[in-house]
Amino acid sequence: MSAPRKNHLSGSDIPADKADRPSREEAEAAVRVLLRWAGDDPRREGLLDTPGRVVRAYEEFFAGYTQNPHDILARTFSEVQGYDEMIVLKDIRFESYCEHHMVPIIGRAHVAYLPNERVVGISKLARLVDAFAKRLQIQEKMTAQIADTLNEVLQPLGVGVILEAAHQCMSTRGVHKAGVSMVTSRMLGSFRDDPSTRREFLSIVSNQNAFSVSNT
Ligand SMILES: [Zn+2]
Repeated sequence: MSAPRKNHLSGSDIPADKADRPSREEAEAAVRVLLRWAGDDPRREGLLDTPGRVVRAYEEFFAGYTQNPHDILARTFSEVQGYDEMIVLKDIRFESYCEHHMVPIIGRAHVAYLPNERVVGISKLARLVDAFAKRLQIQEKMTAQIADTLNEVLQPLGVGVILEAAHQCMSTRGVHKAGVSMVTSRMLGSFRDDPSTRREFLSIVSNQNAFSVSNT
């Protein structure tokens, strides 16, 4: 039984029908095919253990498929002494994989929200980014997924998410443009409607000196 997949921008987009999942042996065999396709011989000594290693690496690269982003944010705290300013976690490094070429997208995420009485442990914001990064992605979708999930679960007054990333499918193949980064953003609630909130977020994110961040 497979539930109909939700809107692709939804935070609870948990793909991969478990029943369709190939065995480890099948996955290793597929790697041997790709080694042959590359022009090498998977039977030579240096490559004998490679399929097993690649399959184990895939378990790390794509660990996000086993995580439910909503669960990550489930535990919230409401004793915040009336704290009602923006909360920003910036420069969250992430490693993701382009869904068109299966090569790395490496970048940084900046995630912010304006709490509505409830806050979440700050490490959870980094885990939320990873839960969506460790999948096959396009950056636009990942940006929307992070923002929408934060918005749905915490129901804050606003959410701002900015991703900056380098795409290896652009630097190591195709147009071969290194040093290019792509920037995507999604602003919800007050981050979308209130220019001063948006400005504050952008200024915090663009401030290179993390220690001079203030709430003014
Ligand atoms: Zn690509």
